Amino acid sequence: MQNLELDKLREIIEINSWTNNKEGVDINGNIFASWLEDIGFSLQRHERGDIGDHLHLISPQREGKKLLLLGHLDTVFPPNSFEGFREDNEWIYGAGVCDMKGGNFVAYKALQNIYNKFGTIYNIDFLLVSDEETGSDDSKFLSAKLASNYDYCMVFEASGLNGEVVEARKGVGTFFIDIKGKASHAGNHYSSGIDANMEASLKLIELVKLTDLSKGTTLNVGKIEGGIGANTISPHSKLTFELRYTDSNEKERVLKEIDKIVAQSFVEGSQSTLSGGIQRDVMQPSSNQKDFIAKINTLCNINLPLEQRGGVSDANIISSCGVATLDGFGPYGDGDHTVNERANKQSFIERIELVTEIFKHFIDKKFED
Ligand SMILES: [Zn+2]
Repeated sequence: MQNLELDKLREIIEINSWTNNKEGVDINGNIFASWLEDIGFSLQRHERGDIGDHLHLISPQREGKKLLLLGHLDTVFPPNSFEGFREDNEWIYGAGVCDMKGGNFVAYKALQNIYNKFGTIYNIDFLLVSDEETGSDDSKFLSAKLASNYDYCMVFEASGLNGEVVEARKGVGTFFIDIKGKASHAGNHYSSGIDANMEASLKLIELVKLTDLSKGTTLNVGKIEGGIGANTISPHSKLTFELRYTDSNEKERVLKEIDKIVAQSFVEGSQSTLSGGIQRDVMQPSSNQKDFIAKINTLCNINLPLEQRGGVSDANIISSCGVATLDGFGPYGDGDHTVNERANKQSFIERIELVTEIFKHFIDKKFED
């Protein structure tokens, strides 16, 4: 059995790297970068002020296909909410152990295996972003820009229960509708008011009708704010909602309908403005992705199990740039985003073996045609 170097994993798990804790995210990133520099990578740092720096680790380059590895450095846990590193025979427990410091670690261990066996690692670069858990609002532009340099992308979010990799993820957008009405006394001047809350309610009913479960499209109005009190016609109201979709045609359909609903005043005189938008576009199975899977299956003599997930990741960004992208190469775990987060030890071993095998064929130029 290979040496898992769990002391190294422990070192990064024990650092709090909540997205808003720039200092912690940077410490985590710097440790990780130093490991990769030790095996021949050079660091390109994309400095940021309020969030952690994004790190692009670049291997020696040569002619041929290029592979991007993608991970995030941040977690959802503020300081003192979930700290420490614990293990038993089967599991490792800690913040980010499957989402996704553990995944980054799988990639690192596989690269280390290749380095120890073959020396130089060519054409495999690693991008570590710092703000995935808050929606990659900053890093998505960098990820999309860098994506054009690559033929393949492997993302190291957690594996499925039976070793599945992720071939598709829903797209997601968050939107806000601000509604302006007119205040008036609900007793004395009922008719001179313009009821923004009523407008919000009628809009909400139209919005949720856009959900089409048969196509995997959901629209959830998760928050309503508005009004002053029981005796005042509400002068303002705000709807916050989220759209998720598995198909770009559905995105087009729903965006058009949202515009119509915003433009229409159900309560005469009310005025509405829309803000927000698509955050991460859908990751859909594609022909170049199919080729990528077929190559892995043939070269590694396996049959990669596949799955589709509702949640988004940075795989959505790279995949919508047209790069053959697969996600879920991290270890299997559960309890992510809770204080029960854990990852399975055996799955670390299996994932590192699989990823090492894929890298080996990549370095051998077996992915060239
Ligand atoms: Zn997460």
